[in-house]
Amino acid sequence: MTNYKPNNFDNETKIRCACCGKILNERPGMANVKMVYHFREDGTKEYVSVTPVCKGICDERMQVSHDMYDGWFDLEDLYSPLIYMDKVLSIMSGMQRGTARFTYDAMQAMKDLLYATAPYVFRDATDKEKAEYNRLFR
Ligand SMILES: [Zn+2]
Repeated sequence: MTNYKPNNFDNETKIRCACCGKILNERPGMANVKMVYHFREDGTKEYVSVTPVCKGICDERMQVSHDMYDGWFDLEDLYSPLIYMDKVLSIMSGMQRGTARFTYDAMQAMKDLLYATAPYVFRDATDKEKAEYNRLFR
């Protein structure tokens, strides 16, 4: 099992199982991210939720209503810089093509997840980069 140590981004966002509340950040291999979607009348796929859950019992407890579909990916996959980038780009591509949409809540959940996993993916920011980020965005 890989030992994931987050870089210091001053970002301590916790990824919690939506079912039991367990913190998943340091144990991504034990969790899935469940993405629930449906097809709109115009045929576009619309994600309605993006939910981290423990594999096994918690995952099985997350039932999807009959008019929805679900897909999932391994949370640990998102800790790979290549898969992380692919996920960001595929979301952007789907939105650009108009083939995939997110509800407000689903997009917020995806952004929260990308933000929470970023410290495990990216290198340490230099002090100069942190200061510049804080100057620009805080
Ligand atoms: Zn759980």
